Amino acid sequence: MAETLAWRKPRQRMAPPAPRQASREMIGSSISMRSVVKTYGAFCAADRISLDVEPGEFITLLGPSGSGKTTLLNLLAGFQTIDGGEILIDGRSIAHVPTHRRGFGMVFQSYALFPNMTVSQNVAFPLRMAGVDRATSDRRVAETLEMMRLSDHARKTPFEMSGGQQQRVAIARAIVMRPKVVLMDEPLSALDRRLRESIQIEIRALHQTIGSTILFVTHDQSEALTMSDRIAVMDKGHIIQVGRPVDIYRQPQSRFVASFVGESNLIEAEILENRGGTMRLRSRSGLVFDAQSRDASASGTATVLVRPERIALRETATADSVAATVTSALFMGETLRIEAEMAGGETLLIRCQDTAARSLPQIGSRIHVSWGAQDCWVLA
Ligand code: ADP
Ligand code: MG
Repeated sequence: MAETLAWRKPRQRMAPPAPRQASREMIGSSISMRSVVKTYGAFCAADRISLDVEPGEFITLLGPSGSGKTTLLNLLAGFQTIDGGEILIDGRSIAHVPTHRRGFGMVFQSYALFPNMTVSQNVAFPLRMAGVDRATSDRRVAETLEMMRLSDHARKTPFEMSGGQQQRVAIARAIVMRPKVVLMDEPLSALDRRLRESIQIEIRALHQTIGSTILFVTHDQSEALTMSDRIAVMDKGHIIQVGRPVDIYRQPQSRFVASFVGESNLIEAEILENRGGTMRLRSRSGLVFDAQSRDASASGTATVLVRPERIALRETATADSVAATVTSALFMGETLRIEAEMAGGETLLIRCQDTAARSLPQIGSRIHVSWGAQDCWVLA
């Protein structure tokens, strides 16, 4: 048995699977937005936005409805005219390049398929417009349908397909030209949760395969966290923080980002000591605790973020815990969602894993909560 394994291993290493080789052929473009401005009358929908996107990066614009995400995408696509600043693709301004010459692939919330054409014809459309010969086009369409697992549906028309399948056709059509940049504006928001999650994973895998730069727009924070290399959080026409999902989630720079991305407890506390990197603080309920911090000079009071899943919950008091009274307790399947009020009047949201050892606490019962220095983050 051991012999067989030893023989098989090097063989597997020598023959990488075919799709990986294909992935190295195409590398996306860099995108550089510099002080981009878009106004509608007196209203500023994009207020001096600057953002640099790496070639082949998957970047997500995440923000509430009306924050300017679509506006920014439209400026990039050339659907709207820019009022200030500039956009560079691979270092060149696209100010004078019309939409159809920018060569971007695009996917929108509404599938926007041609209803009277088959799936194949829909996907072949961009190739036809570009005058690609029939044999190349047929091969490209077949490859792309295969990639999106649509080969069996090639002869169907859009109304014979589900929403999820239609959106996969729209994605296939957007990538069939192997564009250097793909723009996606809330492409999954019309789909139900399960389907959305499975297509999220597909798009992510597709990105690995084709290597295009993808600019993805969503208002759904979990979608942004799952899919992106980096997230740009938008609010009121501004980008307010850019970072890897893990940094956006663990080290948000403002109350807005902390509350918009994930669930949060924001605790007001008095700074007892600032050691640069960590702080010692005291909450209104009297809990003295340490927290991570970026600000080495802050004093007075601070707002501390503690994520609900980072709070430890016990039935008996410990030296570093504080008492709280349960005000709400819900069984949600994989997690228990508990709200509790601390002595100082602050309410805490707690999420803990459902385990055989833990039962749902009674409303009005007393619990003891604590968290470590690694579990909380002082907002800048
Ligand atoms: P998002 O995509 O983040 O939901 P949008 O970019 O669509 O936001 O819109 C940003 C803001 O600009 C919104 O307040 C919206 O009402 C406004 N807006 C968008 N398009 C127009 C337009 N054509 N005319 C006037 N206001 C607009
Ligand atoms: Mg929008």
